[in-house]
Amino acid sequence: MRLANVRGRATVVIDDHTGVDVHDISEGAFPTDASELLARWEEFRRWTSEQDPLAWDHHGRKTLDHNDLGPVVTAPRQIFAIGLNYGLHRDEAGFADATAPVIFTKFASSLCGAHATVTLPSDGVDWEAEIVAVIGRAGRDIPAEKAWDHVAGLMIGQDLSDRTHQFTPPSPQFSMAKSFENFSPVGPFLVTTDEFPDPDDIELGCFLNGEAVQRDRSSNMIHGIPVLLETLSRVVELTPGDLIFTGTPAGVGMGYEPPRYLRPGDELVTWASGIGEIRQRFRAKTA
Ligand code: ZN
Repeated sequence: MRLANVRGRATVVIDDHTGVDVHDISEGAFPTDASELLARWEEFRRWTSEQDPLAWDHHGRKTLDHNDLGPVVTAPRQIFAIGLNYGLHRDEAGFADATAPVIFTKFASSLCGAHATVTLPSDGVDWEAEIVAVIGRAGRDIPAEKAWDHVAGLMIGQDLSDRTHQFTPPSPQFSMAKSFENFSPVGPFLVTTDEFPDPDDIELGCFLNGEAVQRDRSSNMIHGIPVLLETLSRVVELTPGDLIFTGTPAGVGMGYEPPRYLRPGDELVTWASGIGEIRQRFRAKTA
């Protein structure tokens, strides 16, 4: 199943351009707000598995304009992001050690939906295409073998990163440098894990002004999604709606010689097989 946030309303996606309203098809049994729905995710999945999707049509399909798509989770309790989780990207960033995942946060006010215009706070803003996992079941001490049972689904996202801010002395500032307005676009939909032939092996990448700058497979992650859940849940309780940005492949602007960053007027399209694409345009900061 694919779930969207259409102008604030939880929507089951029928095909790329139509969907049905969750509140309507459930005759009010489930909430309009997608974040509230995530809090009741397991109950909702049981309910949808007992329904005949053809019967939903009499409530009326609505047209999905991707400009109307918000982040499926608007106010997660926690957002985790993983650094240096693909070998070639770790090499381009100049780090050798991969024994444990590097973990930071992106603050929730940086979230946005599938299509957005992003203001560039400096001339050092970089792209990072990433698979984003959405937690559907709470837990602590989740073993890797059981981790997928705790994942509601996957999205594609961008971990936009202001390298100027990130590397200003005295020490690197990952979380702040990656949390400017609209620096965490996700979407277009939350896709449940049963929709993928293998959720541990998804192709992803991004195009900058039509040029393919990143392309890899999530099976090349150093620490796969099950291990990330195991590692995180050893310390914190994971709760429904929490997001995990799982790290970016090689091909970020910082890895170019000389480095190459986003400019006003640029368009970035980020995609993943079985998920779809998101699109951002960039504009200069006005004084
Ligand atoms: Zn990242």
